[in-house]
Amino acid sequence: MSKKRWIVGVALAIALVAAGSAAGETVIQAGGLVDPESGTVRRDVIIIVKDGKVTSVGPGLEVPAGADLFDLREMYVLPGLFDCHTHLCEMISAPPENVIYGFDAHLVRETLPGRVLQAVSNARKMLESGITTVRDVGNCGEWGDVAVREALRKGLFEGPTTLASGKIITPFGGQQVLSPERVDLALIDYIFADSRDEMRRAVRQNVYFGADWIKIVVDAQRYIYSEEDVLFIVEEAGRVGLRVAAHCMTDEAARNAAAGGVASVEHGFPLSDETLEMMKKHDVWLVGTDFSTEVLEVYGIQEWRDMIVDRLRRAHRIGVRMAFGSDIVLEIPGHDRGSAVLTLLDTWLAAEVPAPDILRALTTDAALFLGLQKVRGSIREGLAADIIAVPRNPLEDILALRDVKFVMKDGRIVRHDEDGSRP
Ligand SMILES: [Zn+2]
Repeated sequence: MSKKRWIVGVALAIALVAAGSAAGETVIQAGGLVDPESGTVRRDVIIIVKDGKVTSVGPGLEVPAGADLFDLREMYVLPGLFDCHTHLCEMISAPPENVIYGFDAHLVRETLPGRVLQAVSNARKMLESGITTVRDVGNCGEWGDVAVREALRKGLFEGPTTLASGKIITPFGGQQVLSPERVDLALIDYIFADSRDEMRRAVRQNVYFGADWIKIVVDAQRYIYSEEDVLFIVEEAGRVGLRVAAHCMTDEAARNAAAGGVASVEHGFPLSDETLEMMKKHDVWLVGTDFSTEVLEVYGIQEWRDMIVDRLRRAHRIGVRMAFGSDIVLEIPGHDRGSAVLTLLDTWLAAEVPAPDILRALTTDAALFLGLQKVRGSIREGLAADIIAVPRNPLEDILALRDVKFVMKDGRIVRHDEDGSRP
């Protein structure tokens, strides 16, 4: 605690004895309160937080006696960020280290306990970077992402609110190159489902073990899920209120997914204008995982850059709804998981998406996409107190998001750099 806050604390503690009550409240003095939804900034706003939730927001509010006070009058305060495409349990070495005889080495080397511990670290790093909500889209072994979500709910460690997708449902073979003798290796992360019975059972296994979303891979092999296949899975998931995210790397797969009624197309790098128009018409969101140059270099696929920037620019122009997703699974030199995620802002800038639109994809639109808009994603009375602060206005300079100085998660202080260092 800084000296100034200590003095304020003592003063308020004395006031508390006199006035009684107001214990357990936290007050943020915001120089600028950014509302991503309207793209506006309100000046000199007080935010009062109690029991993990925002209880009042406004200018001219009285600071309750006994409250813990955070002076962010030099900062821009905004809702915590969302990453709608994470793999918390993965931290893979870049190729070629990750390849043994043409196969994915991490399937052989990694253990579920090791991957879940990696998730603990990734979750913490993401939260420190200002990411307060994620949708994990699998590759977590035997429902490791559900275990991570539950441990976070219990407060066993700190990380973003996590929605889990369990095991990825895919046609035979998953996303791997497999030996016929070791097909089981892919079954650590995937459920192969080719027939209707297998698809129904795969969805039900995920529901049974606690998934919040269903993730399908439409097109990792030469055979892909048809529109009818997708529709069948979407209907089965929909019976219990779950929605479907579809990994699509081709235009044909994205058309099948959109026509089949998925909630989101993931990646979709080479999508045509026609497919983007179709997604818009069917209310299908794009979670574009628009890799930065740094990430593409680690993958060794720099030549994808122009395609990704071009697709993002067209998707924005056409008006497809977009939620930010990172899909970081590799170690990115010089970055932890949190800062690696925010390298993707480069691509959004290269595609000339205006900063207010980028910010919505990271906050209020993402919350709407995930169906969480009544719970978190805005700084409003009654919503979870997931609050961050940056030194510059992100509506004008989106890269300010790489300079997060304050993070509050569900009303708890995770980070407050008063002297520029982390706590
Ligand atoms: Zn992914």
